[in-house]
Amino acid sequence: MSLTPIRELIAERMKELTDLRKYPEHHLAEIIAEIGFTCTYCARCCTRAFNDHVFLLDTDVSRVLMINPSALEPAPYYEFCDRNGTFYVAGYALTAQDDRAGSCVFLLGDRCRIYSDRPAICRVYPYMLHREADDSGTVDWRQFAGLDQHGEYHGHLTEDECIQAARETIAYEEAFLMQEIAFFVYMERYFKENGLKHVQKKYDETLRRYHAGGEVLVMVWHAGSLDPVRVRRPPAGKAP
Ligand code: SF4
Repeated sequence: MSLTPIRELIAERMKELTDLRKYPEHHLAEIIAEIGFTCTYCARCCTRAFNDHVFLLDTDVSRVLMINPSALEPAPYYEFCDRNGTFYVAGYALTAQDDRAGSCVFLLGDRCRIYSDRPAICRVYPYMLHREADDSGTVDWRQFAGLDQHGEYHGHLTEDECIQAARETIAYEEAFLMQEIAFFVYMERYFKENGLKHVQKKYDETLRRYHAGGEVLVMVWHAGSLDPVRVRRPPAGKAP
């Protein structure tokens, strides 16, 4: 949800993009080499209990649509809500199974059923490159997700492997920011042309209705326009 004017959101993301493009690829590669992460196929990263949700880039959505369209849902944390109680969000996410951990819809045992077609975020994970505040509130670059909570460390990765992982991670973060910027630019124009704006009171009210089991309309940014999707919260006891 956003209380910040769209113009400022665009400026913030543009700055992040500029800073990301200045970040030295070799530095990220060195950090990747130092961590020496090896996946042990615990599959924790493929659950909502561990990773909240799998956000999809537009290119991922096209592939998932061909595999299983029902695996798509609006990404959580809607950005805006207009006076009619319609939410707006920057993209889709993958749905989850009904198990306690909220396993990704494509997880079978400890394996990904669409491994060769898995989304971009799953290809670069656990590497990342964006700024976040630490526990003390200091904002700095974060390059790794879930340190010491999964996998093994201090293994040997070749220089080529580290460079490749760094390159793919930066490319993912760049694509993610560009998708967000395109969404905000579109929303600024869309609201203006339709005499709408973000209404926080309506956002809170509609979210309460959703949490109480009501159906809500979410406009999802995809391929240059907004897809209307009606969503209803799963019954208690089901995955979120
Ligand atoms: S798509 Fe595959 S790799 Fe990605 S979260 Fe789902 S099961 Fe895991």
